[in-house]
Amino acid sequence: MPLDIRRTKIIATLGPATESPAMLVRLIQAGVDVIRLNMAHAKHDWTRMIIRRVREASRAAGREVAVMMDIKGPEIRTGDVEVPIELKPGEIFDFTVKPGASRERAEEVRSVDVNYRDLVNDIKVGDTVLVDSGLIRLEVLEKHDAHIRCRVLTPGSLTSRRHINLPGVKVNLPSFTQKDRADTLVGIEEGVDFIALSFVRDASDVELLRLFLTERKSRARIIAKIEDQSAIDNLDDIIRATDALMVARGDLGIEVPLQELPVIQRRAVRTCLAIGRPVIIATHMLESMIGQPMPTRAEITDVANAVFEQADCVMLSGETTVGQYPVECVQVLDSIARRIEVEQAGDFPEPAVFLNERMKVFRAAVVLANELPRSLILVFTRHGTNAAGIAAHRPPRAPILAVTDSPETLRHLRLVRSVEPFLLSPFGEPEATIERAIASLLSLGRIQDGDKLVIVSDVQTKDRRVDSIQLRSVP
Ligand code: PEP
Repeated sequence: MPLDIRRTKIIATLGPATESPAMLVRLIQAGVDVIRLNMAHAKHDWTRMIIRRVREASRAAGREVAVMMDIKGPEIRTGDVEVPIELKPGEIFDFTVKPGASRERAEEVRSVDVNYRDLVNDIKVGDTVLVDSGLIRLEVLEKHDAHIRCRVLTPGSLTSRRHINLPGVKVNLPSFTQKDRADTLVGIEEGVDFIALSFVRDASDVELLRLFLTERKSRARIIAKIEDQSAIDNLDDIIRATDALMVARGDLGIEVPLQELPVIQRRAVRTCLAIGRPVIIATHMLESMIGQPMPTRAEITDVANAVFEQADCVMLSGETTVGQYPVECVQVLDSIARRIEVEQAGDFPEPAVFLNERMKVFRAAVVLANELPRSLILVFTRHGTNAAGIAAHRPPRAPILAVTDSPETLRHLRLVRSVEPFLLSPFGEPEATIERAIASLLSLGRIQDGDKLVIVSDVQTKDRRVDSIQLRSVP
């Protein structure tokens, strides 16, 4: 193996534990590829400040990482409560749909408001209401004009603005809310690289966001987060419509029967691989490391499973927002991914077959690299399409060195498995550009004498540029 790269990319969510400049530099040096901002908890001033800080930390660490803005989407939440409500097993409890109604009621039965007016219309008697990531569970007993009456099945303490899940209910809320629009405008102004859209239910949700971005001339890529049954019902169309997919297991694991979660993860990853879309496995990867320096054995195996499945990225949430061991979490992901990838390098499954002609050229490059023991794939890519197209074929051994003249493309490629991006700006005449890239990669120590390079680039014919595959040895 000529080059020591980690193929699987690491995403870390920022929070109080990691927002300092020094900690950001440490995270990037430890191997984070993408920084995620969870807009459910972020104010705009903080967002602008932190994006600039990430760019500065990238410069200080000598490695430019990408920024993902994760917008909240159509989330159902309870209103404010003055003191926590201790719900008891079997207690009768109401959810009211008119703001302030829970405070005005003179009833014996305790209640809280929810921000979802159509709750009464969309839910059925017998359905389940889950509060606070499923910690509190209630069953719907009755529906009334302005409230639903429930029985507490699993008790707990209900505090203000708790997240509600309604498994199996088709939630009739706008997919791209006013808050999402305002957040996305900040993201566009600050040049974020990815917008992750929460609770995508079908492809039209992705198309709506795409229109919003293109109308504002943003090149941010879209990540569709699948979190409920509607998304699973429309999975193939969503994957076709989006630039990348996130298997958001936190909410998904509440919205679908728990035994379905691994089956859905596998299906989502396989479909992404077949269509050529990057895929992220998110949530609870190293949850125990929020408070402990070592992961559980089950977590180690869960991370390994995502790498065996050939997902593009693994993601940290609470582990890096509030955890005590954020850098250690990145190191653990890094070491598991590298070990599993060595294991995979011995397998040479047939690369996937895509209908598109350019994809067939990329497949030929991967087949060639597979047959040459000390080879690397060197691809020239302005918009990232060539690099991502090669990565979609999942070369098991040859790393993909992607040379681009666009800092934006470099950051977009941080999400893509096996790709190590480099900036070379500006591109010139094809042969001169290849020679400059080889010289630069040699000086960086990323290639060595004797390496075989499978080069995918443009060549100039009499009247146009065409895709080419060349085989060269590093002199
Ligand atoms: C999830 O539910 O797994 C997830 C990543 O989304 P969020 O953190 O926004 O709830």
